[in-house]
Amino acid sequence: MKFGGASVASPEHFSRIADIIVSRRKEYERVTIVVSAMGNTTDQLINLAKQVNPNPPRREYDMLLSAGERISIALLAMALAKKEQEAVSFTGSQSGIITCAHHAEARIIDVKPYRILAALDSGKVAIVAGFQGVSENKEITTLGRGGSDTTAVALGVALRAEKVEFFKDVPGIFNADPKCDPAAKLLTNLSYSEALAIIKQGAKVLHGRCIELAEKNGLSLHVRSFVGPVNSCVETIICAQERSLSPILHYE
Ligand code: ASP
Ligand code: MG
Repeated sequence: MKFGGASVASPEHFSRIADIIVSRRKEYERVTIVVSAMGNTTDQLINLAKQVNPNPPRREYDMLLSAGERISIALLAMALAKKEQEAVSFTGSQSGIITCAHHAEARIIDVKPYRILAALDSGKVAIVAGFQGVSENKEITTLGRGGSDTTAVALGVALRAEKVEFFKDVPGIFNADPKCDPAAKLLTNLSYSEALAIIKQGAKVLHGRCIELAEKNGLSLHVRSFVGPVNSCVETIICAQERSLSPILHYE
């Protein structure tokens, strides 16, 4: 399950998404969560950096920006603890998200989710900071704006998840921007290439790379709202005609 910035915009939001997680946890024994930074935290951090140094060193830029998601994971674990759901938060590095060394635009090259698997084995919900990883020389990296979606899909692949659900402030992917066009229609089923085409036209509904990664690995993606009933059938499902049975995991 991946929760975007809008779904964790305020302290109250954490209680709502914790309810969604508790309810999914009743259906599924093993649940992993990826979360973004709260609201416009990432923009604020970039702004902060620019005030200190208009051209910040890339390494320090990643060190700063990765803090946004780290705030969210800790708060979400606290919200779940309050509802008596055992959960444990992990940074990208602790989750084994290994990336290239290209700061601010790093690509995931491998996922070694040992700590997540241990947490799931002990019955806990694993909560992972999106948008970040660690390079082979142990530096903290970030994946580019909107990169938490790609974290979620890469983990879904590594954990051989049945699906990845994205919880957003819209109930799915539309044929036009539903925030501007009241006649926009929800698209209930899309192929990977149809979804990719919509994103290439400018819709910021998912990070393009996450769809490519899902397609390579035959992982289905569900896009739905964090508002309203958790089991509502209103959503967009992005999947292949036939699920790939390839035993090889592709990150690149
Ligand atoms: N917080 C980062 C951003 O705003 C990553 C993400 O939300 O996916 O770009
Ligand atoms: Mg964000």
